[in-house]
Amino acid sequence: MTAPAAAKEERERAAKPAGRERVFEVAPEEELLYSMSADGKRKFIRPVLHRGRYWKVRRAMAWGLFVLFVALPLVPLGGHPAVHLDLGQRLFHVLGTTFHPTDNVLLLLFGFGVIVTVFFVGSTFGRMWCGYACPQTVYLEFFFRPVELFLEGTPPAQRKLNAAPMSARKAGIKTAKWAIWTLLALLLASTFVAYFVSWKGLLAGLASPGEATGALGTVAFLTALMLFDFGWFRDQMCTVACPYGRLQSVMADPDTILVAYDAKRGDPKVKVKDRVAGVAAGDCIDCRSCVNACPTGTDIRRGLQSECIGTAQCIDACDEVMLGQKKPIGLIKYTSEREEAGGTRRLVRPRNLIYLALLTLAWGSLAFLLLTRADALVEIVRGGREPYRLLVTGEVANQQRLRVTNQLDVPQSFSVEVLSPGGARLVLAGGPVDVPPEKVVTVNVVTTVPAEVFRDGQATARYLVTSDRGFRKEVEFLLLGPWGKEAGR
Ligand code: SF4
Ligand code: SF4
Repeated sequence: MTAPAAAKEERERAAKPAGRERVFEVAPEEELLYSMSADGKRKFIRPVLHRGRYWKVRRAMAWGLFVLFVALPLVPLGGHPAVHLDLGQRLFHVLGTTFHPTDNVLLLLFGFGVIVTVFFVGSTFGRMWCGYACPQTVYLEFFFRPVELFLEGTPPAQRKLNAAPMSARKAGIKTAKWAIWTLLALLLASTFVAYFVSWKGLLAGLASPGEATGALGTVAFLTALMLFDFGWFRDQMCTVACPYGRLQSVMADPDTILVAYDAKRGDPKVKVKDRVAGVAAGDCIDCRSCVNACPTGTDIRRGLQSECIGTAQCIDACDEVMLGQKKPIGLIKYTSEREEAGGTRRLVRPRNLIYLALLTLAWGSLAFLLLTRADALVEIVRGGREPYRLLVTGEVANQQRLRVTNQLDVPQSFSVEVLSPGGARLVLAGGPVDVPPEKVVTVNVVTTVPAEVFRDGQATARYLVTSDRGFRKEVEFLLLGPWGKEAGR
């Protein structure tokens, strides 16, 4: 074989790695934003899809998360959807447990747990959250973009179609794409709203739209927002709008997992056609396949950048090229700054241990409080306008309000008796307090005690609250009464 023929064959082999067509495109070269051209106009990024090993993992996760997202407000658990954040009733049904606004400690622990988990994940796994689990990436890369790929073809075909004059074929394809996208966005938006109003409430709202303008309006607004985002805004959500990328630089350390190009192995980058015997060349053939695969247009060969959202598409793309070149895969790979500098990545390090301890504390305390959660909450607060009243019988009366929260999904009937001080009596208008499932009932009560039990105008009363479902709790309340002469002392 002659030298030019060999070079031609080498080029063809590089252009068709691992049995799939590869599309070479002009990728952005700007230093600032890859999605912006030199004159400040947006460059619409159309990444070339590589169905490699990491893409398959991401696809499995994407479908798992999608199924979970759809199932949570749909599947019943304990008489309610698995997740129903009922803002109107101020009740939060989560996996068979109902929370009330009074469960502020649980909500606080939940919020703290989420924040610490974000820091732990960000510090340990870098931007894997963005690439594998963020709804923006999941829905764009595995639901919206595949529709475009199916109807319009590969990125060059998409560009060609966009540049072509309007025709019946072009109008048909564009209409079909936006129609499918609208249905998808409608499904996602409705599911999201169902978390707050339930599917039952949403479907009832469809039957009488006048009574559900809030819910239906939110569905319409979210649908439009998703079409704008997934249809046009796309990568700019990650590179311009989302603060997580900036936060990542605070959370990361030299051991954080990141996607990096192995410059020692890859440089100097020499194109296949320029490779001649005797010229120093690394393994990178400067094909830009990694750049063209990137959903944010990032050239990872320039080092770690905030635009990298950790999709690992550049790894899958480069692995294909390396296989085509009959070279080991992993020229772009998951690594860490420490490994890049020749060290060994530390899995256990002080920062991680602190995050791990805090998140164990937060989620552990939350689990403990949930498991030991009482069937009811009982609170006695002061009622009436005056602190106390002296009765003709010589007793002192304190008006109070008894607030009972039934935390079960069955009705409960509550009784209250006063345990101390001696001679105390409780007047509970209407007898036992019947509280429907997951509701709060407040009733007026009066406690009367002999005047002589007061010391410095105060006396502590103890009550026992029980229910027909076995609930039992002792509650204390500080009674106010006469002081000094008024008390007859
Ligand atoms: S790193 Fe790999 S995919 Fe990227 S230009 Fe070099 S050879 Fe091509
Ligand atoms: S540089 Fe690689 S890992 Fe980062 S976003 Fe682009 S394709 Fe994904």
